[in-house]
This record gives sequence, C-alpha cells and structure tokens, in this order.
Amino acid sequence: MSTISLCEPKYLELKNRLSQIQDLEVAACVLNWDQTTYMPTGGTYARGRQIATLKEFAHEKFTDPTIGQLLEDLRPYEKSLPYDCTEASLIRVTRRDYERAIRVPSEFMAKFSQHQAVSYETWVKAKSLKDFSIVQPYLEKTLELSQELASFFPYQHIADPLIDFVDEGMTVSILRPLFKELRQKLLPIVEAITSAPPIDDSCLYQHYPKKQQLKFGHSVIERIGFDFQRGRQDETPHPFTSSFSIGDVRITTRVYEDNFTEALFSTIHEVGHALYEQGIALELEGTPLAEGSSSGIHESQSRLWENIVGRSRGFWECFYPQLQGIFLKQLSRVSASEFYRAINKVANSPIRTDADEVTYNLHVMIRFDLELAMLEGKLAVKDLPEAWNERYKTDLGLVPANDSEGVMQDVHWYGDMVGGMFQGYTLGNLIAAQIYEASVKFDPEVTFGIERGNFTLLHKWLKHNIYQHGRKYTANELINRVTGKPLSIDPFIRYIQDKYSNIYHLKLPIVA
Ligand code: ZN
Repeated sequence: MSTISLCEPKYLELKNRLSQIQDLEVAACVLNWDQTTYMPTGGTYARGRQIATLKEFAHEKFTDPTIGQLLEDLRPYEKSLPYDCTEASLIRVTRRDYERAIRVPSEFMAKFSQHQAVSYETWVKAKSLKDFSIVQPYLEKTLELSQELASFFPYQHIADPLIDFVDEGMTVSILRPLFKELRQKLLPIVEAITSAPPIDDSCLYQHYPKKQQLKFGHSVIERIGFDFQRGRQDETPHPFTSSFSIGDVRITTRVYEDNFTEALFSTIHEVGHALYEQGIALELEGTPLAEGSSSGIHESQSRLWENIVGRSRGFWECFYPQLQGIFLKQLSRVSASEFYRAINKVANSPIRTDADEVTYNLHVMIRFDLELAMLEGKLAVKDLPEAWNERYKTDLGLVPANDSEGVMQDVHWYGDMVGGMFQGYTLGNLIAAQIYEASVKFDPEVTFGIERGNFTLLHKWLKHNIYQHGRKYTANELINRVTGKPLSIDPFIRYIQDKYSNIYHLKLPIVA
C-alpha cells in the first residue's frame, strides 16, 4: 500500500477542519463589514465582543496541537506531490501559518489587541485636537509590543518577522537597497516635473452630483469586469474590500461632490482588489489558499487598475465621451487631453492618500525608514514628529501644517503596529508596473484593447497568471513566474518616465 493512500484521509480531515475555521473567520468578517456599513453605533460594544469571540474560537481551533500533528503526518504525502498542486500547496501554506500562529502566546495577542483598540480611540481624539502628545505614550507602548511580537521569531532584522506577516519572503535586507535606489531615481524626476509649469486641474473640483458619480462609477467597474452577481458596492467613510467567499466580494466607496477623482479612482482601486478575490480558482474555496498572495501582490492589482489602466490615455479615449455626456455642464469645454492631464497632475503634498503616482512612493518610504529606526531603537517616539517633518522637508520640500497632517495622518501605527505596515504599498506599485509590462509583452493587444473598451484581454491574462492561484505562490515566486525576472524597480521607473515626459513635455532622466 502506498503512502499516498494512507495519508489521503488525513488530508481530507485537515481540509474539513480548515474550512470550519475559515467559516468562523468569515463570520467575524461579515460582522465587521456590517459594523462598518449599516450597523447603528449603539451596537459597537457588543459587536466588538462578538467579533473577538469568533476570532478566539478560530484561533483556538487553528493552534490545536492536533492540527500540527496532521500537518506532520502529511509530510510524506506533500513530498510525493508536485510543488504547486492544490494539495501540496494547501499543506505547505497551512504549515507556514500554523508555525507562525503557535509562536505567539494567545495572552500576548489578547493584550496587544486590547491595547490597539484603546490606542486607536486615543489617536482619533489626538488627531482631531492636532495634539501628538496625547497619543505619544500609546505609540510608545505599541512600539514595545511590536518589538516583543518580533522577538517570538528568529530574525536578522527586528522588522523582518513583522514584514513577513504580510509580505512573506521580503526582508529589510531586500527592501532597504531597493527603496534606496527607487528614492534616488524618483527625487530628480519629481524635481523636474514640479519645476515645470503646473497643470490646471480645476475642472476636477467643480460640483459633481453624487448620484451621477455613482452611476458612472458603476458602469465603469462593470465594464472592467467586476461581477455584480458575485459582489456589491456600498458607501463608507474609508473605502475597503471584503471577501466572504469567491462568490461574494464586496467593495465600498466614498463620494465627494466637490472632487470628481476621489470616488472614481478609489472605486477602481477597490475593484482591482475585488477582481483578484473574484478570480481565485473555485477549488480553493474555503481553504487558506483562497486569498491574495501577499499585501504587495494584492496592492499591485489595485494600483494596476487604478493607475496604469484607470489613469491611462487609452482608458479615457474610451470613457471620456460618456463622462462628458453625463457632466455636460462641468466638462463640455474640457478636452479629453486636458482632462487626462488634470487627473495625472503631479504635486508635492503632505498627505499620502492624496498623492499622485509619482510622489506616492516617497511618502511610503519615509514611513518605512522611520518604522525601522523606531524598531531599531534609534528613534524615540517623542522625536518622531520632528523626524517626520525633517524627512518631508528633504523629500517633498514641505513641512506639514500640524501633526494631524503629518505624523498622525495614517491609522496604521496607532490602530495596528509599528513594522510591516507600509512596504506593501510601494511593493504594489513596483509589482504592478512589472506585471503590466509582462502582460503587454505577452500580448500587445492588451493596451489597444483598453482604448477600445475591451478589458477582457487584460482581465483574463491576470486571472490566468495571478488571480486563480490564490496563495499557492509567495510574492517572489509569483513575480518570477509571471515576469521571468525577480522584483525590480526598472519597469516602474520606465513607466513613470514614459508617461510623465509626455504629459509634462519633459526629457526625464533615463534609467541607467
Ligand atoms: Zn489597496
């Protein structure tokens, strides 16, 4: 009798148990979605407890030693199978999750999440009062707890385990030189662009009624490939995507009537995340493989659709006549080319989430460097606002008006932890450019398709090469497989130089 047939029942047992754990996690996720969308605020306290209970059950079930035993027993079965078949991938990925989960004592996790909830509330208050000193002791505690969390794992750099939670395989020794090179290449590009005559983007800041904005956004994302039979869209103050199953992926959006770009581009961004989740192979449903590969890969899909596609000339060749028809009063005198330049205006600004695609990574790299300095003990939390403002002066030529627009603008350090919070955004931009370049190399029709409103070519290619695999491959494996090369900054720099030398009529520095 072969080892395989001996082990198969154990594989089925593992799969069944994982699917029950997944059900608990998804139930918590649905409660969370409800809280953020439609729940009356009176439900907040009870809802917090309900979600915590479900998460605790899921964690207990997953860290049960019998799961470890099953994974151990399944080693020979896994070895007998091809690396990327579903069974071997499920065992491998689950083992990685399991080994990570059992290293952290559950009392520590409970203590940390309790602290995160209080710290988040304090941040909301401190931000509204523009007073960093209110949240400073909480951030000090968060830093301590983040360092303690890292200490449960072996590491070369203290941030490595925290980065590995979301961007597996990425380390400080890979990211630091990569980001340093990116910053060196971006700074002169930003300098050249911002010295050129500024683009007039006032056409975007007229009155755009909400109803029409939502209607236009709806038609755009349907055309791109968002499946409303397997998803829906709602409104929230902060847009996000939730996946409850491959057949139920929800996005949210927010609309500003005096700013046309906010709703549309954040919607396309979330749809990029959602297409990924809707495109995962059905056979992975209910397993830990039915998710995106990493935070960088996930973000690459949202940024690819939002920026590389959504802010491209071809995209607006297709959609501008329709947009002009809906907003005749606002846009009848604005040409497609003026509109295209307006949505791609580059300017140094203090807020990351408002930043254009050229300066955006500078914001991220500032946070990444400061995070590392804090974790290494080289930067005290009390000195953080000053360090933040200094870097903004050097990299973006401005000093934030106050700490709410500066060091307190993002929730990450205050509601989550210090470490691993930001690299995914820049990785996403780099990976998006590398992947899009590969898709066009594979089939140049991808770009022409966009001009004609045919997004199927690109959507199918991404589904085949990225979406369907879920978490089978790590980010590095996936990038190598899809583009034939390891992660590089060159495609992103090429993309920026090509696009913006055109928009700003400049001869931008060429990649060496
Ligand atoms: Zn995103």
